[in-house]
Amino acid sequence: MTETFKIIEKATQSHSLSKDEIIKILKDDNANEFLFQNADKIRKKYVGNEVHLRGLIEFSNICRCNCKYCGLRKDNNLVKRYRMDIEEILNLAQKAKQYGYKTIVLQSGEDAFFSKEKICEIIKEIKKLDFAITLSIGEKTFEEYKAYKAAGADRYLLRIETTDKNLYEKMHPSMSFDNRVRCLYDLKKAGFETGTGCLVGLPSQTIESLADDILFFKELDADMIGLGPFIPNPQTPLKDKKTGNLILAIKVMAVTRLLLPDINIPATTAMETLQPDGRIIALKSGANVVMPNVTCEDCKQKYEIYPGKAGLNNSPEEYKRVITSKIEAIGRTISDGYGFRTSRLN
Ligand code: SAM
Ligand code: SF4
Repeated sequence: MTETFKIIEKATQSHSLSKDEIIKILKDDNANEFLFQNADKIRKKYVGNEVHLRGLIEFSNICRCNCKYCGLRKDNNLVKRYRMDIEEILNLAQKAKQYGYKTIVLQSGEDAFFSKEKICEIIKEIKKLDFAITLSIGEKTFEEYKAYKAAGADRYLLRIETTDKNLYEKMHPSMSFDNRVRCLYDLKKAGFETGTGCLVGLPSQTIESLADDILFFKELDADMIGLGPFIPNPQTPLKDKKTGNLILAIKVMAVTRLLLPDINIPATTAMETLQPDGRIIALKSGANVVMPNVTCEDCKQKYEIYPGKAGLNNSPEEYKRVITSKIEAIGRTISDGYGFRTSRLN
């Protein structure tokens, strides 16, 4: 047994690794299958065989930020902008209800039109339909986070993107790494199930910094981790950069499962975009959540973070059918619960 196998074995037993040990796993591809099998085993032991489906509504692609990798960045004049009104959002939530989803994920650019009051109103209306609500709407003040929580939101997704402070600030003009970290701790303090994650394959990102990302997830005690390979968008300053490596992204996800055994981990769209069965590979390597897009056709096309986003050619009904049969084909079941983090650690 090589050293890497032993380290994976240790993580499977103890759910703890040093930075050097994580680096060893990420750099050595000889033990990948063993890593994926162990992450799958730990997923089964701690969060079971159920897959949670969360209905994603991309309600605005207007953004005041200029993240260098993202097609929704403010300076991209080529993207056609849209903003849904509350009726459109509720209409999509009703549809998500018909598909049987128990969670609505409300995602958007950082769109200042949606004041604290407007977001709270949307949350309260969606809550009447008996959904768990996840927000993914960017950096806010502690007061705003508390207000969303009081209005009924349950979870919040805000990726750290990278824990390399220099790289973070290069990728996010006029944003601060410290404020990003502040937001994540404020979300925890406000009582949210807090999700974070990183992009894998950002230009000049190192394996060492990916190891730091994983340790950061553990330090924060994140409740959800969403990871995706970086996919260059031709309408951004990173258009000529290399695409992130899918296998490396899945490895980062699998190590995260070993270290945070009872959290929720989505098989992300970016994974499926790079490989048609990317989501299923992720589900067999530690993931237990899928976020089917319920956004209407026209808006979905305009929410172009990166080109070729998986699922663009399926209607929400079709996608539900296809993903259900793929999930059942690998011996898993669709959850009919809300899918909160339920610790089985003790
Ligand atoms: N504006 C919110 C935010 O940034 O948290 C939510 C929407 S944003 C489009 C959601 C995620 O998309 C980001 O956290 C980022 O990791 C991911 N993303 C953006 N551009 C990407 C790209 N080119 N390749 C892969 N993922 C990308
Ligand atoms: Fe805006 Fe989010 Fe895209 Fe950054 S990643 S430009 S905050 S939508």
